[in-house]
Amino acid sequence: MKVEVICGPMFSGKTEELIRRITRAKYAKLRVLSFKPSIDSRYSKTSIASHSGAREACFAVNQVEDILDIINQRGQGFPDIVAIEEAQFFEQEGFKNVLCYLRKQHTKTIIAGLDMDFAGVPFENIIYAMGIANRVDKLSAVCVECGADATMTYRKSDSNERVEIGETDIYEARCYGCWQRKKPLKKAM
Ligand code: ADP
Ligand code: MG
Ligand code: ZN
Repeated sequence: MKVEVICGPMFSGKTEELIRRITRAKYAKLRVLSFKPSIDSRYSKTSIASHSGAREACFAVNQVEDILDIINQRGQGFPDIVAIEEAQFFEQEGFKNVLCYLRKQHTKTIIAGLDMDFAGVPFENIIYAMGIANRVDKLSAVCVECGADATMTYRKSDSNERVEIGETDIYEARCYGCWQRKKPLKKAM
């Protein structure tokens, strides 16, 4: 019945916060099932993994509809909590349908994902989830250039593809001003 969203740029602690909520739910003896798109193979294929090393086992699914299939196959009804990591990567129409379906169940769905891509364009899935959510937490990272709160994800590589899986090798957290400058200051000097 409830939807929660944890969003923000890369390195803002979305995954840590998702794992924290899952851990708390388990202390309360709630049943939790966690999922992520299999495209996110950074660190681990079978767990939700934060940049700081925290891990939580999950199902890696190719399509968002697989979430419902896995829940059904287990034959234990809907869990108390469905956690979905990196939700921006799922196909839009399917994501909307699955989220609306989950919302009709006695399940709390916690969505974690990037609010914007490297170009500053919002991700549709996260916008949609924010719109119907009971609770939205928008986290910020620390700007690697100036130390201010970072709301943007800066891509260091030249690629213009919307999705490019990477880490600090390709991405940096930046405040809006430092992100707007587009060229890494350190390299420009
Ligand atoms: P997200 O899922 O939002 O990408 P994670 O939860 O995986 O973030 O990781 C957050 C952690 O990343 C922080 O606790 C910190 O240890 C580390 N980190 C690395 N770079 C930064 C940064 N620029 N700002 C804040 N935290 C950072
Ligand atoms: Mg993350
Ligand atoms: Zn800055």
